[in-house]
Amino acid sequence: MKRSSFMKLLGTGALISVIGLRSFAKEMEAIPEQEAPMPLLFIGHGSPMNAIEDNSFTRMLKGLGKTIPKPKAIMSVSAHWLTKGTYVCGVDKPKLIYDFYGFPEKLSQVKYPCGGSPKFAKEVMDLANQNPLGWDESWGLDHGTWSVMRHIYPNADIPVFQLSIDYNNGLGYHFEIGKVLRELRNKGVLVIGSGNLVHNLIKMDFQNLDGEPYDWAVQFDAYVKARLENRNFKALINYQQIGSAANKAHPTNDHYLPMLYVLGMCDKNEPLEFIFEGYQGRSVSMRCFKVG
Ligand code: ZN
Repeated sequence: MKRSSFMKLLGTGALISVIGLRSFAKEMEAIPEQEAPMPLLFIGHGSPMNAIEDNSFTRMLKGLGKTIPKPKAIMSVSAHWLTKGTYVCGVDKPKLIYDFYGFPEKLSQVKYPCGGSPKFAKEVMDLANQNPLGWDESWGLDHGTWSVMRHIYPNADIPVFQLSIDYNNGLGYHFEIGKVLRELRNKGVLVIGSGNLVHNLIKMDFQNLDGEPYDWAVQFDAYVKARLENRNFKALINYQQIGSAANKAHPTNDHYLPMLYVLGMCDKNEPLEFIFEGYQGRSVSMRCFKVG
């Protein structure tokens, strides 16, 4: 502080005794530094083959980890863990689940030897105390999680655990669970929703993965994009109201629901950035975004 401004301070009567200053400084030390909230990710994971392929999507994932402060743990809400009731997996060493059929054998040999996080899984249970969650030790990591993790954090040196999706509950429920778990972001946990914003496997053209997307796929993807840009979360929760394009985009909505957890944890004033867009097999949107 310049001598003149110090004198000004004295002039306003802000005269603090030396002893007072010392105890003030001590108090400042005792207050833990507020951590900036961790960003949020929504990843459109697409085909399980993305786990082992080199394409524009996987190259984007490979650079993503470097843009995010190192998390203490990662909680993934994957489209592939659907349950009755909501569960948090609290195992120490999560096994990999190869939950797909008809793919090359090498896909079932992928390893991702990260640890789990019983500590943060317990934290999730505590935060959600008004909405009691179930404790699980039977799951692990399904391909919605490990197929993207191995690109974002190839060293598998960050604990990863999953939260299940209660498939029996209404759309608003998923948003609300996100809201009650928002505090995780201030504790250094990176939350990832892993699904797809358009996901119709019946219409998917596996022979033509880079083919032109269907009109309704483009239409629904644009609908979601615009409402994310306007932070119109209400419309995104009630997406089924738009009818036909919504039904075609999600004959079942397991891949849409992970986004609602991300939105529940999101502050409407935070920046939201689309980090990837594209389609696979004409009927799956690969759009990804980052919040914060
Ligand atoms: Zn999937």
